[in-house]
Amino acid sequence: MKPGAGLYVHVPFCLTRCGYCDFNTYAGLDHLRSPYVEALLCESNLAARAWARTPFVSIFLGGGTPTTLPIEAMVRLLDHLRKEFTVIATAEVTSEANPDTVDETYLRGLRRAGVTRLSLGLQSFDPAVLRSLERLHSAESAVGAFRAARRAGFGDVNLDLIYGAEGETPGSWRETLERTIALEPDHVSAYALTIEPATALGRRVAAGLSPAPDGDLQADLYGVACELLDEAGYEHYEVSNWAKPGRRCVHNMGYWEGRPYLGLGAGAHSYRDGRRWWNVRPPQQYLGEVGAGRLPVGGEEILNDDEHRLERLLLGLRMAEGVPEEWVGGAARADDFVARGLAARRAGRLALTDRGMLLANELILELAG
Ligand code: SF4
Repeated sequence: MKPGAGLYVHVPFCLTRCGYCDFNTYAGLDHLRSPYVEALLCESNLAARAWARTPFVSIFLGGGTPTTLPIEAMVRLLDHLRKEFTVIATAEVTSEANPDTVDETYLRGLRRAGVTRLSLGLQSFDPAVLRSLERLHSAESAVGAFRAARRAGFGDVNLDLIYGAEGETPGSWRETLERTIALEPDHVSAYALTIEPATALGRRVAAGLSPAPDGDLQADLYGVACELLDEAGYEHYEVSNWAKPGRRCVHNMGYWEGRPYLGLGAGAHSYRDGRRWWNVRPPQQYLGEVGAGRLPVGGEEILNDDEHRLERLLLGLRMAEGVPEEWVGGAARADDFVARGLAARRAGRLALTDRGMLLANELILELAG
């Protein structure tokens, strides 16, 4: 039996485009929604044969905003994927959702379609932060969506947060975390705002119209998240992810554990046996390729043994379990990380501390160098 794989489906539509976002997603392409769903069904037919003997342990509908699709399309898509692929009965099936795109009726429809887990983009309880992120929804509508999800029967809900945006203070971030924890979500993801040059926010920062995030402040905010979520019983199992016991995200664990995954949709990435490939990004081009009966592959790379080892190390270090210490180059280097307070030895492995996780990207560069 092959290792459990993940199935990712990219839905590149959003109500509006948030200024900080550099995902492959578009506002104003609503007329493509229906042909896009048809193309996803066709692409899954084209891809299924090569994955016939692979059990899928998770499906993740991401974007973009998958919940901009009508519920009938979601039902049809998920039914089709279950027919085309070997999706195990207990598979985790996640849909991302923007609070303004869902109500209880829609969420009940998602449950009936077999979605087991909802990931809601809450981002912040601070109205100033939501404004500077150009999020349409208010904190109240996000809370409303969370409560509707519980009423609809979602026993597994993630809340996504972003910290370090303009206008945020340690006090308002603490309040965001406290109000998030009070809702008792099963999982919390908290990401530092990063500025991507090719975004509206990136251009504003470059022009001096908006401040760049303050790295020291973001480090303090990360520390507050580690402290409050730990006190509330969440396990810090990956650099940016915390879960109640038994509620880690199976799908995202697959990426960090190096398990295979198949991505469907515009710009989606796939990985198996050391080969990584990705689909063409523009939705129109994607529709054209699939419409012509071709797999819409835009590029690929084959990892050599060294690249594969490095990638396994970098992904493994992001996880709470850490890695065997020989992966980082032996005892001397492990001693150095421990002495700097960046890592600890646990059960014969080397795992990053909260401080090490904060500096994960720098450490990864150090190890790669
Ligand atoms: S809703 Fe999410 S995916 Fe869509 S533009 Fe905003 S941040 Fe990007």
